[in-house]
Amino acid sequence: MSPADFAASIRTIPDYPKPGILFRDITTLLGDARAFRRAVDELVQPWAGAKIDKVAGIEARGFILGGAVAHQLSAGFVPIRKKGKLPHQTVRMAYALEYGEDEIEMHVDAIAPGERVLLVDDLVATGGTATGAVKLLQTCGAVVEAACFIVDLPDLGGAEKLRLAGVSVRTLVS
Ligand code: AMP
Repeated sequence: MSPADFAASIRTIPDYPKPGILFRDITTLLGDARAFRRAVDELVQPWAGAKIDKVAGIEARGFILGGAVAHQLSAGFVPIRKKGKLPHQTVRMAYALEYGEDEIEMHVDAIAPGERVLLVDDLVATGGTATGAVKLLQTCGAVVEAACFIVDLPDLGGAEKLRLAGVSVRTLVS
């Protein structure tokens, strides 16, 4: 599927969740069987046959995509969640929001040192969330092979920021 086809399967909601934001709603892509399958196939394509130990998905849409990606690669799945949601001992990382900061966390034993990890989320905007997730994974000894997103908002510079930090980035539509 071409980037234009992926773009056509994603709905844009103006002024959500606040005025001035164009929200890229991937639920329409997820609900389209062909688009969902092709998105997952194309996200994993560079790693077909490679040894990926874990796929880490960022709450919440990264769980949906990351679960499918993990299944496709026969890898384990690790949820990266907003703080306070995981039941066992966690490691935490602060990350930058447009205004202020927040924290994400992961179970302390979710990744073994040296494991090869793919990070997955639906969209990269400023890259604050994904950069925090990469740092969190690396703190636990993960080798972050790449960060994968369906949508890149290049004007906000997040994918570029990740690349400058040495992370390989895969996106399907800008
Ligand atoms: P950022 O940390 O700025 O890269 O923001 C990425 C996170 O916020 C992802 O988990 C996205 O799901 C969400 N997000 C940011 N901007 C948008 C947008 N315009 N449309 C949909 N989701 C967004």
